[in-house]
Amino acid sequence: MATGMEDRFAKAQERMLSRDLKGRDIVDPDVLRVMSEIRREEFVPQSYESQAYADGPLPIGMGQTISQPYIVALMTQELHLNRDCTVLEIGTGSGYQTAVLSRLVKKVHTIERFGQLSESAQATLGRLGIDNVEFCVDDGSRGWPMQKWDDKLERMVEWQPCFDRIMITAAVPKIPEPVIEQLAEGGLIIAPIGPPGVQELIVAEKKAEHMTKRFVCDVRFVKLLGEYGFEQ
Ligand code: SAH
Repeated sequence: MATGMEDRFAKAQERMLSRDLKGRDIVDPDVLRVMSEIRREEFVPQSYESQAYADGPLPIGMGQTISQPYIVALMTQELHLNRDCTVLEIGTGSGYQTAVLSRLVKKVHTIERFGQLSESAQATLGRLGIDNVEFCVDDGSRGWPMQKWDDKLERMVEWQPCFDRIMITAAVPKIPEPVIEQLAEGGLIIAPIGPPGVQELIVAEKKAEHMTKRFVCDVRFVKLLGEYGFEQ
């Protein structure tokens, strides 16, 4: 039986879907369905639970934020995902965006520089029974690590990761070269590009080794720190 608490969240979630997503330009039925299935209150600290469906970012610890629901929906919609896609997400944060992506594609690789955030996201996704996500704690500005464990050889081996879609959920001065290298031909990447403060949300397509770029809207993201991101 639903408790009063769950009821309150359900109403707030319904309002978010109708006012902040459908009421704007979110039309992809799969994105809307998944965002109606995943409960955002699972991903925010308890002290912010009551604001889980407000259309804004919220603190998640380590000076980072969970992205605004509308922006999560928009970035997901812009990637034109399908069940065959393998996706790289740079900036796991709370894991909310990761969970949304995981329900629409074959596999998500997500990388986060703070071990504490990655562990908490892993625990949340585990609780929700999501099992098509691989987590990594490292500097994602360099892309996904180019070494992986080989069970047969029982040692680390070199490999070239290749993703159909890439989402960067923190501001970058430009799309890092090593990340572009990991995008499949014909693949799409979405990222907030620009200085700390306000950035341009850009979708880029890799065609014949060139990137064709399209402006989506202005956004405000925390900085991607690291070798190909911003300095501390
Ligand atoms: N999609 C997340 C957004 C989190 S904010 C959510 O909705 O919860 C951006 C995240 O990027 C932060 O967690 C931050 O720690 C992480 N980040 C910053 N620089 C990074 C880097 N070089 N590699 C991986 N993650 C990074």
